[in-house]
Amino acid sequence: MKMNKTRSGFVAIVGRPNVGKSTLLNAILNEKIAITSPKPQTTRHKISGILTKDDYQIVFVDTPGMHKGKDLLNKRIDKLAVSTLRDVDSIIFVVDRIKGKAEEHIINYFKNVNCPVYLVINKIDLLKSKAEIDEVIISYLGSYDFEGYYPISAANNENINYLLNDIVNSLEEGPFYYPTTAKTDKSDEFIMAEFIREKILLYTEEEVPHAVAVVIESIDYNKEYKTLDVSAIIIVERPSQKKILIGKNGEKMKKIGTEARLDINNKFDIKTHLSLWVKVKKDWRNRPTELTKYGYHEE
Ligand code: GDP
Ligand code: MG
Repeated sequence: MKMNKTRSGFVAIVGRPNVGKSTLLNAILNEKIAITSPKPQTTRHKISGILTKDDYQIVFVDTPGMHKGKDLLNKRIDKLAVSTLRDVDSIIFVVDRIKGKAEEHIINYFKNVNCPVYLVINKIDLLKSKAEIDEVIISYLGSYDFEGYYPISAANNENINYLLNDIVNSLEEGPFYYPTTAKTDKSDEFIMAEFIREKILLYTEEEVPHAVAVVIESIDYNKEYKTLDVSAIIIVERPSQKKILIGKNGEKMKKIGTEARLDINNKFDIKTHLSLWVKVKKDWRNRPTELTKYGYHEE
């Protein structure tokens, strides 16, 4: 039997918070595995999305946005993004504006890695003309020897194929690292907890989104009704945040629960019952054991 050679590679997706990295990952995979929101610092974990076609497999690594944070949670997150760069075969650098200080800060990291960097200009749907797109591209010329420039709209799935083609063409011979059916390296629990956190990000303001962690307590399959019974705990830092989350007559919590449940139904293709509980854990973002307990490990 003749075996065809397979090709594979790891690709990091990096950039400032909120430029659309997770949106791009979902668009490439054609499935929602990473949550997105208009708020910065939505992504807290490194999450891999796996694209497998007949003879190749690409592992895209969505990183939390690179920025300088103050608390221990943010320090762990930033370290994670930087260490990822050393372990990949190529890098997608996502921007959504003319080069500024924050972008330069990230470009400086590329000087220590030895792999192609694709510059992706996202959100071109918000730009008015080709001249505006060119203006953004020109601002990056000369700052680094980029592999190519790709104006795209991740949200509208526009032009992503050009980027993907070039990445596929650059793949070298290598094994499949994941089963061909795998879409992500994360567990079902992780994805469910993230769907819940996404709705919290969507429906709360100011300090609340960042003070929240979600832990799935149990997932049980109900044989009689053929449903999934999921129970989750939402951790906040202060009683006042708990009050905001629950909302008047529990309305906010209900809305969060309903929408998260629909996402879970969709992704796992099964009817779900979701119970949410809110718990206060003072200053958890600065407590190493609590951080680890909620899945924010030191790497
Ligand atoms: P990340 O922090 O880099 O992972 O950014 P997200 O993927 O969470 O996206 C941040 C925000 O930008 C979300 O509100 C997205 O809907 C929005 N966004 C992402 N891509 C596009 C795009 O192509 N066009 C527009 N208009 N918005 C986008
Ligand atoms: Mg993200």
